[in-house]
Amino acid sequence: MKFTEFGLDDSLIESIEATGYEEATPIQEKVIPIILKGHDLIASAQTGTGKTAAFLLPIIQRLLQHSNDGQVNAIVIVPTRELAIQISQNLEGMSYFTNISSIAIYGGNDGNNFSNEKMALSKGVDLVICTPGRMIAHLNMGYAKLDGLQFLVLDEADRMLDMGFHDDIMRIIGKLPEKRQTLLFSATMPEKIRSLARKILHNPEEVNI
Ligand code: AMP
Repeated sequence: MKFTEFGLDDSLIESIEATGYEEATPIQEKVIPIILKGHDLIASAQTGTGKTAAFLLPIIQRLLQHSNDGQVNAIVIVPTRELAIQISQNLEGMSYFTNISSIAIYGGNDGNNFSNEKMALSKGVDLVICTPGRMIAHLNMGYAKLDGLQFLVLDEADRMLDMGFHDDIMRIIGKLPEKRQTLLFSATMPEKIRSLARKILHNPEEVNI
């Protein structure tokens, strides 16, 4: 399936073409229309399937249509700084010809980065990619503007639970508006993921690749 068939904005199509993607991967074909329609989602997908663009593209599309100024509009929570960096590189490509703003927030940097992150979270930014602990550090200080949040993505959710991030994730979610679209991606679907999904998703569509 061609990316032009999803009804995406021209600026997004241009960015996709510049990245060199020609056809949507199977997960993109299934997931993009579900997210564009506004449904919650639980998807089992391995790395390498194109799952990152599968959630980034429809979120960017929806944010191009409506973004709350001065607010954080979307948060993607990931287990590691390596994955945060990888997703933000992918995002830079996907959003290159758009006016979408974003920031990657992860542990282990210096204080200067912390103040840049603080400024983005308090001034508002379309999309935040973060590791759980670093986001908690910011939330504890209370300046992140989250009332207008529209999208929450948990990526590699099974890995995050294995790393002991369950309580951090629930604390972050506790600060978010209940009316939002939530997307959960996981390589495996053990009962603890199903149980997390029951707590945080509303009538989700399910995709297995
Ligand atoms: P991911 O599973 O999201 O980590 O993506 C794996 C790799 O596939 C990354 O290098 C992506 O840039 C690339 N990729 C994602 N979607 C496509 C596509 N539709 N066509 C070609 N490459 C893609």
